[in-house]
Amino acid sequence: SMEDMAGKVVLITGASSGIGEHLAYEYAKQGTRLALVARREKQLEEVAKKARAMGSPDVIISSADVSNFQHCKRFVEEAVNHFGRLDHLVNNAGILSAFFFEEASDITNTVPVMDVNFWGSVYVAHFALPHLKKTKGKIVANTSVSGWLYGPDLSIYSASKAAMISFYETLRIELGSDITITIVSPGFTESEITQGKHLSMEGKVEISEAKRDAVVRFFPLRSVTESAKIILNGVRRGDRNITDPSWLRTL
Ligand code: NDP
Repeated sequence: SMEDMAGKVVLITGASSGIGEHLAYEYAKQGTRLALVARREKQLEEVAKKARAMGSPDVIISSADVSNFQHCKRFVEEAVNHFGRLDHLVNNAGILSAFFFEEASDITNTVPVMDVNFWGSVYVAHFALPHLKKTKGKIVANTSVSGWLYGPDLSIYSASKAAMISFYETLRIELGSDITITIVSPGFTESEITQGKHLSMEGKVEISEAKRDAVVRFFPLRSVTESAKIILNGVRRGDRNITDPSWLRTL
């Protein structure tokens, strides 16, 4: 059965663009109250405005860096103080690095990938857990198909996503039926990440046309809207894993 989201409270990290932004809109259409987190405040304000127009009765935003432990403590407290409860935590914030490992000059440039994707997600889960236990809520972890399947360029990114998967599989064992954990593994989705606006060894990701074509042959490029709809349906159903079948059809 599908969970009724009306009036429930959902915290989404990485809600200023891409999959997180569009998940906010899908939740809003269900009448969910929202706490939206990312670093870019202007973008968050825009997303909040649209989410209200789409049906969310109350939206708050927090500009924060999920790789900062104190920031995570602050925005989880803000959300719970404001709304009085927390039903879903969507750990979605993430950055990409794409490079050939042996060509890297300064490997320490990629430390933020683990800090944001893995540690950020762990920090937020740590602070949200007591609140989620009270509501028998859900954690949605946006990992990646590259946490399960490996190819060139993504050594550090894949490792960060595989680390997330191990962490959430373990939490599931520890928590039993108290909290539902949904591990989401998207394929190739058109967003700022895939448009090369984020981190790489040189400070930006370069995904050449040739590389892009090669990836799209395996993982058809999806829109963020389509991905968000697939994800929220699976979450409301209580799926443990969401891997859109066509994301994996070449296996
Ligand atoms: P976007 O770059 O559009 O979204 C990433 C979001 O994370 C933004 O809202 C960004 O906001 C936020 N973010 C990044 N760093 C931080 C930080 N330190 N603290 C807080 N927020 C942060 O790309 P996507 O929507 O594609 O990415 C969303 C998730 O989906 C990521 O975890 C990504 O790895 C995963 N994914 C994406 C795939 C794809 O093909 N697009 C495939 C598989 C997984 P801001 O910059 O304002 O902080």
